[in-house]
Amino acid sequence: MSPVQSEQKKMKVKYSYLDSQFKNAEPIVEDVKKLLGRGDFTLGAAVNEFETSFAKLCGVKHAIGVNSGTDAITLILKAMDIGPGDEVITASNSFIASAGAIAMAGAAPALAEVKEDYNIDPASVANLITKKTKAILPVHLTGNPADMDEILALGRKHNIAVIEDAAQAIEAQYKGKRVGSMGIAAEFSLHPLKNLNVWGDGGVVTTNSDAIAQKVKLLRNHGLINRDEAAIFGGNSRLDTLQAIVGNHMLREVHLINETRIRHAAYYDKALAGLGDNVVIPKRDPNKRQVYHTYVIQVKKREELIAYLAEQGIETKIHYPIPIHRQQCSKYLGYKKGDFPIAEAQAEKILTLPVHQALTQEQMDYVAEHIRRFYKG
Ligand SMILES: *Cc1c(COP(=O)(O)O)cnc(C)c1O
Repeated sequence: MSPVQSEQKKMKVKYSYLDSQFKNAEPIVEDVKKLLGRGDFTLGAAVNEFETSFAKLCGVKHAIGVNSGTDAITLILKAMDIGPGDEVITASNSFIASAGAIAMAGAAPALAEVKEDYNIDPASVANLITKKTKAILPVHLTGNPADMDEILALGRKHNIAVIEDAAQAIEAQYKGKRVGSMGIAAEFSLHPLKNLNVWGDGGVVTTNSDAIAQKVKLLRNHGLINRDEAAIFGGNSRLDTLQAIVGNHMLREVHLINETRIRHAAYYDKALAGLGDNVVIPKRDPNKRQVYHTYVIQVKKREELIAYLAEQGIETKIHYPIPIHRQQCSKYLGYKKGDFPIAEAQAEKILTLPVHQALTQEQMDYVAEHIRRFYKG
């Protein structure tokens, strides 16, 4: 290939597709115009429709729209009277919000080690259970369900609630069970980078418990039982009605989005196999339907690879470079380097490739080809 040809072959592969995903937003804008005619700007018809559809998608009795995934977790904990003096166990390698939401509820995050598939290790969870433990918050990281049988068994044995952090895992399944329906309650995020995304912040609580659903509904809306009467003190954590309108459209697309991401991940799994310990792909569990919010591999010479791929026009990310116990905000909990060797080792090696639904085959070939070329010379 001549230098000119290889120059022409250079492609741009962006990590996210947000700048073009909503190019044809007319149908959504039409529904926004209808809202202007109705005037139900808070909660209202759009939020009701969203909640009904979301509950159906997850196979649960209740879905409650809230203003973020983070608040969804905090409100679930508050609804269960989990707060000061209590401990909630979660993973040491999640997005910071998993632990942050626990702290915002007034409880103490108790962090657990993870496994080779990046998910919370039930054996580590078992070791952390104390008299103060009130809940376990497994994270379905990358869109891959955590080991729910083992975690739910621990919950039953010790009479501790299991709450799912399903922010990254809409439509994922564990042994045929839908994520968001296995714990006492679950949290989803509608953040722009999540698989079901809106035009800003949004979150959802799912639960089969009438009591939790009722309490979360109160907490998100000033504790009001009607226009004038408040049963409890609450706050304002409502799902924005505009975002619910976007969410209603995205609910019709999310299945195709997930199917496409799953297909892209399967392609990468094949195309990146055989590179020895240069590129380690987590074992795929046939009992789990992963929806690939992120496609995370472990690589050697990571910083060089990132720079090389960037030169080729390929954008990559790291989810997450600093484990939660190594964050400044966790210092008061007494953690130190070495507490979670697996999470720490992974943080040094993990790399997230673009896996979004708009990637073309050509782009994925290009990514895989350059990774192979980097290691094979
Ligand atoms: C995104 C995310 C959250 C928080 O969701 P927001 O809607 O951004 O508040 C919580 N947990 C995990 C694992 C996430 O990825």
